[in-house]
Amino acid sequence: MRVMRIYCPECDEVAVIKKTNRKHAHISDVYCACSNVECGHTFVMNMTFSHTLSPSAISHGHLIKELIGSIAEDKRQEMIDMLRMVQNDDSKAQINEKPTGQPSPSRYRRGG
Ligand SMILES: [Zn+2]
Repeated sequence: MRVMRIYCPECDEVAVIKKTNRKHAHISDVYCACSNVECGHTFVMNMTFSHTLSPSAISHGHLIKELIGSIAEDKRQEMIDMLRMVQNDDSKAQINEKPTGQPSPSRYRRGG
């Protein structure tokens, strides 16, 4: 696992995180102290969320619900029929697939 390192902007020594103030789900203030005793600089860095590479499994249902809500009512049946076709294809594929123990790649994963 890679640990994020913060460097003192004054002397370039490694700084220690003393406190994190989570202002929002996507924004945190990170209070830092330089580890160089001759410097002693204390400062605040901002940490912000950038973008999603692969969507959360927890919010997956929410995404689908939002997607369905954004589709015109007359187009929904068309979408449901398309999903049924995909589901039928998947169940056929599962019968033919040999179990590998590896999770199959998600059809719905966004490219990034
Ligand atoms: Zn420093």
